[in-house]
Parts: sequence; C-alpha cells; structure tokens
Amino acid sequence: NKIPNQLLVIFGASGDLTERKLIPALFNLFQGKHLSPRFTVLGVSRSTGDDASFRERMVLKNKFIPQTIGNFGLRKEFSERVFYHDLGDSYDTDYGPLKDRILALDADQGVAGNVIFYFSTPPSLYGTIAKNLHARGLLEELDSYRRLIVEKPFGYDLESARELNRELQQYCEESQIYRIDHYLGKETVQNLLVTRFANSIFEPLWNRNYIRHVEITNAESEGVGKRGGYYERSGALRDMFQNHLLQIVSLVVMEPPIGPQPEEIRNEKVKALKSLRVMTDPKVLFSHTIRGQYLAGSCNGEQAVGYREEEGVDPQSTTETYAAIKFYVDNWRWSGVPFYVRTAKRMPTKVTEVVIHFKTPHHQIFRGSGMEQYDNKLIIRIQPNEGMAIKFGVKVPGQGFEVARANLDFYYSDLGQVTVMEPYERLLLDAMNGDATLYARADEVEAAWKFVDPILKYWQHGEDVVTYGYSSGMWGPKNADELIEGDFGWRNPGEH
Ligand code: NAP
Repeated sequence: NKIPNQLLVIFGASGDLTERKLIPALFNLFQGKHLSPRFTVLGVSRSTGDDASFRERMVLKNKFIPQTIGNFGLRKEFSERVFYHDLGDSYDTDYGPLKDRILALDADQGVAGNVIFYFSTPPSLYGTIAKNLHARGLLEELDSYRRLIVEKPFGYDLESARELNRELQQYCEESQIYRIDHYLGKETVQNLLVTRFANSIFEPLWNRNYIRHVEITNAESEGVGKRGGYYERSGALRDMFQNHLLQIVSLVVMEPPIGPQPEEIRNEKVKALKSLRVMTDPKVLFSHTIRGQYLAGSCNGEQAVGYREEEGVDPQSTTETYAAIKFYVDNWRWSGVPFYVRTAKRMPTKVTEVVIHFKTPHHQIFRGSGMEQYDNKLIIRIQPNEGMAIKFGVKVPGQGFEVARANLDFYYSDLGQVTVMEPYERLLLDAMNGDATLYARADEVEAAWKFVDPILKYWQHGEDVVTYGYSSGMWGPKNADELIEGDFGWRNPGEH
C-alpha cells in the first residue's frame, strides 16, 4: 500500500521505547522505502532539547540503529525528517505552541494535515494528553486523518481500562484509537489466521471432537533486570497474560470471520474472549490458577539472583513472575476442552508456542506399539525459530507394528531471503495505512480484563493463595505440573 504523507507525533519521546523500538522501526521502514518521502516525525516531551540534539541521540548515535559507515548517508537523510518539541514542565499544559509547531511542519513538509499521535508516556498521562489535544482541535478529522496509537498497559484492571476507554472516547471516535499489542505484529501470530482459515486440513479438526487440550507457553530466560519497580506493580498476569497471551488465545478460539476486514476479524476475537469462562468461585480459582516467583538459581550457565533480591523489588514481595491458568471456553466449538496457558520469567529457555494436542484415536488397534504415549500435536512456534511442526506416528521398519514419532515441520527461515518485519515496523505501517486489524478494540480489551480481573482479585485477597518459589532455570513450580491434566504434562520445549 502507498503510505500517505503524514506526521507522527511521539509523546514521551525522550524515553526508552522511542529510542529502542520506535525510531529504529521507523528508520528500517525508511530504509526499506516503505514511508512516503514526506514522512515526518515530531518527538514531544518535557526534557530540554531541540531538533539537533534529538536527531543526534535518537538517530545519528542511537545504538539500536546499526551505526555503520555504509548507512551514514541514510541515517543523516532520515534524521532530517525528525524534529523535536519541548513541552515545558508538564503534559497538562496549553498545546497552543505544539499546534503551531504541527501547523508549521505541515506547511514546510507537506503532510496534508494527516497526523498520528503516539502515546509513549506512562499510561496515567494518556487521558491528559488526549484532553489537551482535543482542546486545541488537534483530534478533529476534516479532510485529513487524526489517529492515536496507545501503548500498553491499557488499564490496570477492568475498571481502570473502562475508565481509560471512556476518557479517550470523550475526545475522539473509537475508530481513531489504535491500542497497540506488539505480539499481534509478529508474523507467526498472524499466521494463526492463515493456518486455520486458508487451509482445509486443520479447520475441520479444530474443535472439541478432535482436540484434547490446548497449551500455550510463554517462557523468558531473563529476570526482571532493571524493570523491577515497574514489575512490582504489574506481575506476570498483567504484563503478559491479559494482553499478549489472551490475544493469541482469541486467535486460536475465534470462529471464521466473514472476510479479512478489520472489523470482521475483531468482532470474532471479541466473541472469542467473551466466551472464556470467567472463574469467580475461590475453589475453582485455587485449583485452576498457579502463581510463582523465581528464586536464585542457575540460568543459561549463569548464577541468577532471586526476584526478591532484584533492584527495585520489595524483599517481601509476592508479585508473581510465573502464572499458569487452566480455563474452559463456553461455546459450541470448545465445550469441555481445557486450555492451559502459562507465562514466566527465568525459565531454562526463551520460547513462545501454541500446542494443539489432538485426541488419540477412539479405537487403538496398535495397542502396546508405543503410540499411546504420543498424542498428535500441532506446534506453532511464535518465537524464536518461527515456524510450525506436526508430530505424528510412523511405523518402525521391521516386523510387527512398533510406532515411532515423526515430525513434519516448516520454519520461516525456509522461505529464504524474505525479510520478516519487526512487530513495531508492521504495526506502525498498518496504523499509517489506517488498518486496525492488528490493534485491540475497546470491547476486546475490556473482555480480556473481565476474564483476568477475578483472578487478580483472588490472588490479591484470597485466603488460600500461595506464591510458590521455583529455582531460576527450572520450568516453574511443581504444583503447576499437577494443573495440567492426564499423563502428558507440559511440553517443555527442548525436553520432548
Ligand atoms: P519511560 O522511558 O519511562 O517514559 C517515557 C517518557 O515519558 C519519559 O522519557 C518521560 O519524558 C515521560 N514521562 C512523563 N511523565 C513521567 C513520569 N511520571 N515518569 C516517567 N516518565 C515520564 O517509558 P518507556 O519505556 O519509553 O515506555 C513508554 C510507554 O510504552 C509506557 O506506557 C510503557 O508501559 C510502554 N511500553 C514500553 C516498552 C519498552 O520496551 N520500553 C514495551 C511495551 C510498552 P519527559 O520527562 O522528557 O517528558
């Protein structure tokens, strides 16, 4: 698609996200000639600075953009498309001078009035920024468009997410709001839609008649690092589960959309999230949810400190760095199929994958052949080594019917020199094109919180809640093994 001329205004432009992700993503898009020649960036924050200092820090000396002699010319050219506006002492101020700057840039650069505002400040400021943009008429769409991209976290619980939706919708239309979830920018996540709805071999089996259970793992080998302070207020459930993992769940669970249009897909995702069985009974919450926290241990050959020893973490903290949830989906397709979803830090490896476990055949004629111990699995590897694998049984050559497991697999790297865009590149491009398919809608975010809220409340106030310790470098607390049904246990990638 041809990207229209436009201005991207980044609030919180002095921050980590702008430096590490946004500007490098924009540079890559510029390098790949995806941006219109008049594409312009305006960084806005309270830190003192000007165009020259901002360009130097964010482009010319940004270590997240390869600093090669070969790309110096391109970096210089790109930096000239980047500007900075010092907001003064507060985000709650008169945006008159900012408006003047935007109009002046529009006149000089010719962006035809099209502006995207990227909110990359702490979320407590999103409402304030929208209010002040609105007060200066900067969110009005006349012949051009005005869009907001809003960073995560979107709310802290259901009530705060609703409040933020109400606040933003007071100042602009829902269609102008793009809530970013960078997991949706991953090729392998989008490929879930293609796997299911562009092939005839998976969808007929994609239901309770053939699927025994669904397992989703998000494991990180790193700890909280320098983000201890942030993590203390968040925990694994808010940081990963409510947003990224439930987005993946919605793509696994959803019904086929009528077509590929953003609203058709998002309608089905909302329906999927609404069909998750909300757990409110403390007994169910006790048996279906496990929380853990990493202790000191050895991870990737290095000694790691426990969570409570990390910088910015309360030595008595009960914040979870491990969350495993079992739940059911109350609809025709999934009735009775358990879902097991876990996310954790300080695991033996970094991996995100979806595993669809198929039922074994009703009548086993090769009993004793070894096949009973294997179920058929479809593994969708979201990261790293992006790809898919099907595990099935084959006959071992020789007499009798001994069965061994075989794999059919595909890796994205098999496609050769195809460049896979970074999630932020893809998502920024989509917002510039006005394609909201991979952005979360207000009702989608609220439906996800509705499911998570009772778990959070139970974990906060429940009488019998335990935070289990697990050694860094291990696959989480033992109790989580009991959560998963049957003889199969978790599929710990790298183990089997
Ligand atoms: P950050 O560095 O802490 O903050 C971004 C900017 O916000 C700061 O440079 C600061 O600029 C401004 N700010 C205004 N009031 C602030 C306050 N009370 N405390 C701290 N900063 C304040 O955050 P970030 O890591 O860039 O993240 C920005 C947003 O993206 C956040 O909502 C975050 O949750 C989200 N996010 C970040 C990442 C990531 O990898 N960093 C990933 C996913 C989501 P001035 O003081 O100059 O105005």
